[in-house]
Amino acid sequence: MKCSDKISNVQSDIRGPLYVEAMKMEAAGKKILKINSGNLAIFGHNAPASAKEAILNSIDDAVPYCDFRGMIKAREAICNYYKTRGVTDIDVDDIYIGNGVSELADITISVLLDERDEILLPRPCYSLWSNCAKKVGAKPVYYTCDEQADWFPDIEDIKRHITDRTKAIVIINPNNPTGALYSDDNLKQIIEIARQHKLVILTDEIYDRLLYDNLKHTPVAKLAPDLFVVTYNGLSKSHCVCGFRAGWMLISGPDSESAEFRSGVDKLTSLRLCAGAIPQLIIPSALADTESTAKLFVPGGALYERRKATLDAIEKTDSLTCVKNSGGLYVFPKIDSRFKISDDRNFAKKLLQEKHILLVPGSGFDNETPDHFRVVMLPTPEELTNAIKSIDDVLKKHFM
Ligand code: PLP
Repeated sequence: MKCSDKISNVQSDIRGPLYVEAMKMEAAGKKILKINSGNLAIFGHNAPASAKEAILNSIDDAVPYCDFRGMIKAREAICNYYKTRGVTDIDVDDIYIGNGVSELADITISVLLDERDEILLPRPCYSLWSNCAKKVGAKPVYYTCDEQADWFPDIEDIKRHITDRTKAIVIINPNNPTGALYSDDNLKQIIEIARQHKLVILTDEIYDRLLYDNLKHTPVAKLAPDLFVVTYNGLSKSHCVCGFRAGWMLISGPDSESAEFRSGVDKLTSLRLCAGAIPQLIIPSALADTESTAKLFVPGGALYERRKATLDAIEKTDSLTCVKNSGGLYVFPKIDSRFKISDDRNFAKKLLQEKHILLVPGSGFDNETPDHFRVVMLPTPEELTNAIKSIDDVLKKHFM
């Protein structure tokens, strides 16, 4: 059966061909270190007890289909979350709950973009966004996030890439894969470009509660109350419940500009009747519980210690350098230029076959040059230290 050409360019390296090979190796009895995905629970980072209790206590409420936008108690909690974070002029009808941010990104892009429309995406980019654009025949256009400037978006580069077909700009903050947390000043400059060129801002803030070093995140919607902004977030990472698929989006700014988008989103979200209702039960208690996330990121906390082990191990090599991350679960190290890698998927394949480590090379994030890879900092500090050592070994054995 010949199927649609529309998805011929779609590829996720997080669960792509190398992942399939790793699963076969695992089925054959090999132990694989899976640092390809920020899937917290498989590394023993468990959902807080309050989340499980919320489900057990209210499971009957989740039996029927709920509103296509999501359960009202959950949307009230989300609305309140953003109000306390300084986002104004919003109410529960501005919130849509989805089966993860992934589903809502897909719906958004389908509603917003026609074939050949252009969407500005960060490079490197979490490939959900580029793949959704490719799926509808839109054109992903990348702006540089500059490694020399702590991976911040390069404002001049954004301006250079705007054309009369540019409709939207995606911001991922804190970023996956770089771990950068953008300054308010940087965000305001991006917002100003969106204001001048009438772009919709799609801001993926799923890591907004996953911050190191007492840093604070500012929602774009707070800085741009006059613009049509869609904010994406969820509990997958902050409450270690990736499998529950609990995500949401908030539409803010002038209703006059977002009216057609809202009615398109209404159509597509009602087509799938509703998002899974069981995960929605935990949203109110999870958003009230900031402590269980925060304690992972302070000295002695699981993620703080893993990040320390990873960065220390990288620093000890002479093959890798790395910008320290400020948020999220990842770093994006650079391979020294004396190593000759023409195809970084080949490097990742060697690593899997020889060291049984599964990771995503830079090209899986639309990176321009084959000299980066992402480390998911979730295994134990010892495993992470050993993984970096193995990466160094493979580079020296095959790519010198
Ligand atoms: N957005 C970013 C930046 C991510 O890193 C991820 C998952 O890793 C997602 C969205 C997907 O989130 P969800 O589990 O809510 O679909």
